[in-house]
Amino acid sequence: MKFEVTILGSSSATPVYNRNPTAQLLNCNEKFYLIDCGEGTQQQLIKFGLKASKIDFIFISHLHGDHYFGLIGLLSSMHLNGRIKPLYIFAPQAIQEILALQFKHSDTTLRYELVYFAIDPEQPAVIFENRDVVVETIILNHRIPCTGFKFTEKKRLRKLLVDKLEAKNVPLECYPLLKRGADLTLPGGETLLNADYTTDSAVPKSYAYCSDTLFDVAYFDSIRNCDTLYHEATFLHDMLERAKETHHTTALQAAEVAQAVNAKKLLIGHFSSRYKTLVELLDEAKSVFPATQLAIEGTTYEI
Ligand SMILES: [Zn+2]
Ligand SMILES: [Zn+2]
Repeated sequence: MKFEVTILGSSSATPVYNRNPTAQLLNCNEKFYLIDCGEGTQQQLIKFGLKASKIDFIFISHLHGDHYFGLIGLLSSMHLNGRIKPLYIFAPQAIQEILALQFKHSDTTLRYELVYFAIDPEQPAVIFENRDVVVETIILNHRIPCTGFKFTEKKRLRKLLVDKLEAKNVPLECYPLLKRGADLTLPGGETLLNADYTTDSAVPKSYAYCSDTLFDVAYFDSIRNCDTLYHEATFLHDMLERAKETHHTTALQAAEVAQAVNAKKLLIGHFSSRYKTLVELLDEAKSVFPATQLAIEGTTYEI
């Protein structure tokens, strides 16, 4: 099953040096989840050959413009391109009012349904679940209410050892039972132990997205043992005071978070416009947490 994220925007605040404000596209089993939607997200999707029409779920972390100013344009284009299937938006409550005002004054009546889910910024909660994935909020510490999102794959059914089953002439209708872990008694009375005829499916993985936040142990429990942690790293650590003032994190702190929560991999992003090149941010994070990568736009990372 595919579980990977493509970076569409990696800049904080403003577009600069060919970097765009925050947006990411998560592919979980060929279903597409857009995480934040900064200005330019549509252009980035087009540039990287990703189809907006495949996106059915959008998650917005908070209402600073660099995380949602691309939304009205994207939603309008979906309308103009003939979308009819519903679109689900998980975002702070006020997004509904903001979009309604924009649609009202542009005299736009969408031909598809927008289904809103207002995120509670105080309590972590499961906000979405389907066959593939569970999404939980992460309560971050920013200047305005801000939540991250943790996507955890669902446990898959057991894998069949088909050659062994065929050798025993096991009827096909028994396969679903075996996939669910049951033993099997054949018509002749022989019992087949599940463990001999199936193998366990892959261990479910998780992706934790921490957008804008102050370094704060309060959210560590929500992201413990995640496979890939995306964490903002707006500044180098020599800018720690500025990071604190603006409720952001340094690259060093992002690495400390990854280490403290026992993440397997760290992706850093949300880079300040003061950094023309990013290698110093990467080096700083790697000095604490070697399994760090930069969130590079157009690059897809396996979770
Ligand atoms: Zn931001
Ligand atoms: Zn922000």
